[in-house]
Amino acid sequence: MSDAPIRKVLILGGGTAGWMTAAALAKVLNAERTEVVLVESEQIGTIGVGEATIPPILTFNAMLGIDERAFMRATKATFKLGIEFRGWTRPGDRYIHPFGTFGLDIEAIKFHQVWLKFRDHAGPIEDFNLAAVAARQGRFALPDPDPAKVLSSLKYAFHFDASLYARFLRTYAEARGVTRIEDKVGDVTLRREDGFIQSVTLEDGRVIEADLFIDCTGFRALLIGGALGGAYHDWSHWLPNDRAVAIPCDTGGDGLTPYTRATADTAGWRWRIPLQHRTGNGYVYSSAHIGDDDALAALVAGLDGPPRAEPNFLRFQAGRRDQAWIKNCVAIGLSSGFLEPLESTSIHLIQAGITKLLALFPDCGFDPVEIAEYNRLTAQQIDQVRDFIILHYKATERADTPYWDQVRTMAIPDSLRRKIELFAGRGRLFPSDFDLFGESSWVAVLLGQGIVPRKHDALVDALPEVALVQRLTRLSAVIAEAARAMPTHEAFIARYCAASDLARAPA
Ligand SMILES: Cc1cc2nc3c(=O)[nH]c(=O)nc-3n(C[C@H](O)[C@H](O)[C@H](O)COP(=O)(O)OP(=O)(O)OC[C@H]3O[C@@H](n4cnc5c(N)ncnc54)[C@H](O)[C@@H]3O)c2cc1C
Repeated sequence: MSDAPIRKVLILGGGTAGWMTAAALAKVLNAERTEVVLVESEQIGTIGVGEATIPPILTFNAMLGIDERAFMRATKATFKLGIEFRGWTRPGDRYIHPFGTFGLDIEAIKFHQVWLKFRDHAGPIEDFNLAAVAARQGRFALPDPDPAKVLSSLKYAFHFDASLYARFLRTYAEARGVTRIEDKVGDVTLRREDGFIQSVTLEDGRVIEADLFIDCTGFRALLIGGALGGAYHDWSHWLPNDRAVAIPCDTGGDGLTPYTRATADTAGWRWRIPLQHRTGNGYVYSSAHIGDDDALAALVAGLDGPPRAEPNFLRFQAGRRDQAWIKNCVAIGLSSGFLEPLESTSIHLIQAGITKLLALFPDCGFDPVEIAEYNRLTAQQIDQVRDFIILHYKATERADTPYWDQVRTMAIPDSLRRKIELFAGRGRLFPSDFDLFGESSWVAVLLGQGIVPRKHDALVDALPEVALVQRLTRLSAVIAEAARAMPTHEAFIARYCAASDLARAPA
């Protein structure tokens, strides 16, 4: 087994995954010691969607040392405090899955258990999360660094133009020594002795060798699927949506909401993501239940303003690679698997792949134990996200279309079934290690989707009732007050990070 260092990394693909990986490697590796090359093909292009993120992206940007205002101006970004779900339990209902936590735990007793006991008088649980209250009022402010202030509890992420983010990271990576090659890869050559990837051949005839290959070729999965034949677990029996149509429009309607909106429709759901210069929209649907023309018509009917581009139709299959790392090839991004963007998790899973790759960065010996660990952690992370997404479909009262009837009555993974049953009893939750979605996220979606526990934790009954009720009243008042003191999201953006070249219709 060789312990020679990795001298050359080839990233194949220049979408969000490719440039996030390139930027991170450029930051961490010594360019004198390890060369990083990225090959992308404008002829093939990128998927061109993916606009909503979750809070850990702040850690990624901070790791790169990116200035938040510069990044937001460059990507025409807005702030995101959570996701509003409309019509998921039954037509007409709505709830927010906010970032951050609900209330404050009392020692071993979880806040939601206290809320459960007094829920008839305490008001909606959303009143106990600052992000949810601010989102409802269309307000935003940065978290306060003082942990004594309620504003310190605010968590946020971004909506941004993903192609501008990739461009931003490209500038970052190239400035730190990453070489970009514009061409299409035709052939992949494997080493005869061990089946490792030796080189790729470009259409212009150039042969590029490397020690480590990162497959960021999107759904094509040219290396991990094509050359190495990696197996794919198909999850379409749980997540039947296999198409999407995306279309941006002028800003209108509710304007720059500091949240993503996910509206359930007859055979899937529609997203609405406001950016500074336009609003991104899409309909994610099951082709077995609705045709492309009808999906497009439903999407267009719900737009806030005139469309800004031709519709972009996309096809996919929910699932993941059996192994995201095979021999000297690591798949990051869509090549490693796909879950629909209901909880905005794909860009995060790219980040998680990069973080694990850096933590287990190999030498030319490619230790099988470390590769197995990468694959185990990757599978665990994506399987947990899968369960969280399936929850939105399974926990519904909707039976108004064949689609909703199918997902409401389908069999679900045992891991999710156990979680739902445990919560439905006494509101118990035990998020596992590496679960991207913590307790508050599960509470938000389980309650939001109509699963209200039959009883609360008996430990709550040991606490004095009057003091608890006073505590709840004070907490929701403090949160309401903090939200009211924030500027509107629109005003905050205008002051903090307005892009210089906005061509936005007035809200
Ligand atoms: C409908 C939809 C909505 C989404 N919304 C969100 C969202 O809101 N939030 C979120 O986090 N994620 C979202 N995603 C996922 C997100 O779009 C992707 O995770 C992200 O864009 C990363 O894509 P990628 O870089 O893996 O692939 P791509 O963008 O497809 O890039 C592939 C790259 O590989 C190159 N390539 C391919 N073959 C070759 C070849 N032979 N030679 C050379 N180059 C090649 C292409 O040119 C391109 O540069 C969404 C996805 C879909 C389908």
